[in-house]
Amino acid sequence: MNAFTVRASAWGALFDCAMKFEGEHLLGMRKASGLRAALGTAVHASTAANDQARLDGNPLTPDDTAGVLIDALHNPTQDVDYRDDDLTVRDAERIGLALHTRYCLDIAPQFEYTAVEMKLAPFEIDCGGGTVVRLTGSMDRARVAQREDGIAIPDLKTGRAIIQNGKVNTKGKAAQLGTYQLLYENTTGEQTVGGQIIGLPTTGKANPMVSPLFDARRVMLGTDGQRGLIEYAAEMFRSGLFPPNPQSVLCSPKFCARWKTCMFHE
Ligand code: SF4
Repeated sequence: MNAFTVRASAWGALFDCAMKFEGEHLLGMRKASGLRAALGTAVHASTAANDQARLDGNPLTPDDTAGVLIDALHNPTQDVDYRDDDLTVRDAERIGLALHTRYCLDIAPQFEYTAVEMKLAPFEIDCGGGTVVRLTGSMDRARVAQREDGIAIPDLKTGRAIIQNGKVNTKGKAAQLGTYQLLYENTTGEQTVGGQIIGLPTTGKANPMVSPLFDARRVMLGTDGQRGLIEYAAEMFRSGLFPPNPQSVLCSPKFCARWKTCMFHE
């Protein structure tokens, strides 16, 4: 049997540039991230600390968990190239603390979370021909929220362009969210009603915002008349063909570990 184990949090990247995904998640190619990515990681850590405390019945103030952000920025667990971005560590602290506070005061109270970065039961996709993909890990950066109409999966996304024209940019986010919806259902046996993106902009004057609820699960499973992304993924793993996408917004030496050896980019 040909078995692949992939982190659930990496699955969405397969549908951006599959060749990049293969390099980074199947062949183990690595690249240091820039300071802006480290800022995103630090905001995720501090907001998760805020939400977990609330979930545990010991709510904390934004100031109480701000130290998590500073610590994550100064002691990153991944390699960070500090020359690789247009901001300083001091800028990153300032932007990160403002985002953290806005999230804790304005965004988190809108939700009734039931889990933060929930651990997921393994989910196997039979690709045919003896090839199996096993998705494992946790709902990295996402939460589980109880709404009046059912369970939703809000996923925190940071970035320069996450808010566009006064709205959360949900383009290309359905594969990851749909995966989390499916894996949550596989883990708990409970249905979900959809996913949401919590947009935390790391630049400009835009404020953090929450997208409307949308059913990302359908994109993974398909409909009666259309194949879902799982079928396309199975074909890639079965054939071993992971196509390049030089039009990806992440197709750059800054973001792609395969850049130096890939002939498809300009
Ligand atoms: S350089 Fe561009 S096309 Fe090539 S693997 Fe990376 S993202 Fe894909």
